[in-house]
Amino acid sequence: MDDLTGKVALVTGAASGIGLATARRFAAADAALILVDRNAGRLAAAVESLGAGRHRGVTMDVTDEAAWTKLADEIDRDAGRLDILVNNAGFGVFRSIADTSLDHWRAIMAVNLDSVFLATKHLLPLLARSGSGAIVNMSSIRGIAAAANTGSYCAAKGAVRMFTKATALECAALGNGVRANSVHPGHIATPLSAGVHADPAIAARLLADIPVGRIGTPDEIADAILFLASDASKYMTGAELVIDGGSTAQ
Ligand code: NAD
Repeated sequence: MDDLTGKVALVTGAASGIGLATARRFAAADAALILVDRNAGRLAAAVESLGAGRHRGVTMDVTDEAAWTKLADEIDRDAGRLDILVNNAGFGVFRSIADTSLDHWRAIMAVNLDSVFLATKHLLPLLARSGSGAIVNMSSIRGIAAAANTGSYCAAKGAVRMFTKATALECAALGNGVRANSVHPGHIATPLSAGVHADPAIAARLLADIPVGRIGTPDEIADAILFLASDASKYMTGAELVIDGGSTAQ
């Protein structure tokens, strides 16, 4: 599982949080990385910390289809292969249905869901050529168990879960060797969740909902992603891996 030698891996949202932790795990496992993020400054720092000579950063918005077609052509031309795709970029905010505008709903769908479709569509030919391609899509426990005031996020992450299964079945039917699985983190300490966790009342409520009694770390999600990206999980496809300290077991 710790050996990705010779493999090329693309991680979106790689400049921060879970994506950055995943990029670090993959680099330690000897993969060559393509790190995608829209935050140019943080992305450059991430690539630098991993080894700029070996790894490449691409500043783009994952909701932009033209950017994906351009990147697919560049990967084909430069690396000639792609073995692992981690669709991680995403975000959500607490908001009631009444307070959710259609524009906000569409923005949540675009970054969490449209991006997964676009990357899969445009990178699948390269992944299929690998012979043992692996797609890992970032969902959430909110893709399995809903919560109040998170309607758009729950809908997007639930759709990611089902799109992953449909991708897995389509690839199996095609016999192209590509596996697709989803990960479902619970409450993880990242810049995205820092604001929520900083509120003592909300933090106490979250902790009360986590049987193991603590918030998870980005590395604990990166370990699960590495497992699903590696040959250690080669008989897994269309599966959902929950990493939540027991929250959804209750
Ligand atoms: P984060 O904010 O630390 O990192 C997300 C990264 O994605 C950032 O670097 C950001 O610039 C990038 N990004 C966002 N929108 C983008 C876009 N349109 N184009 C390109 N890059 C974009 O967040 P995180 O907590 O590491 O979250 C990563 C993923 O994990 C998200 O999909 C999130 O929904 C999911 N998740 C997080 C938690 C949690 O508790 N933190 C729990 C479950 C699922």
